[in-house]
Amino acid sequence: MARDTAPYELRFDAGRCCLDLLATSHPHEHLDAVAPLCAWITGAGLVPPGTPLGHADPAWPLRFRELRAHIGTLVRAEGDSDPRARARALGRLNELAAAAPPVPRAVRQENGSLARELAGRPECAALLAVVARDAVELLTDPVARAAVRECAGDDCPLVYLDTSRGRRRRWCSSETCGNRERVARHRRRAALARS
Ligand SMILES: [Zn+2]
Repeated sequence: MARDTAPYELRFDAGRCCLDLLATSHPHEHLDAVAPLCAWITGAGLVPPGTPLGHADPAWPLRFRELRAHIGTLVRAEGDSDPRARARALGRLNELAAAAPPVPRAVRQENGSLARELAGRPECAALLAVVARDAVELLTDPVARAAVRECAGDDCPLVYLDTSRGRRRRWCSSETCGNRERVARHRRRAALARS
């Protein structure tokens, strides 16, 4: 199973795994097959590196996308969605969070060091629970909740946790949206200088 996330252009810079999951729908659907989902699961640190996920089936991406939709409803601006949709999303989030997450164990390696492995193969419900629990933590932590920002980039819907000093992070990523903004500003200034 793919362990390298690069071919799928996945991002893990939102500051929380539940927010990283939201990023998988932008700028296009990344969780449209089993392989990119498994790359996401590994990249997001839901399982120790190297954990076999060959048992993942095509229902997994659908289930992760369902959780993603609920997290999106709950995390984005409170006034945006109707209260019934939010109540439904909250109910499902709590159901998904109720499952037991994968059990980690420390295993002695040949060189004597300890490595983290899972006690059994992780089922989809257990992995969904990890992300759902992260969302529960985020939504119920007033300090973290207040640090959730939507990217200031044009047409960029990504949300992230602003943990920068002075809480001045404006973009989901300074390399993508931040850089685009700097280029646009430069162009505007150049155009102004010409006129
Ligand atoms: Zn952005």
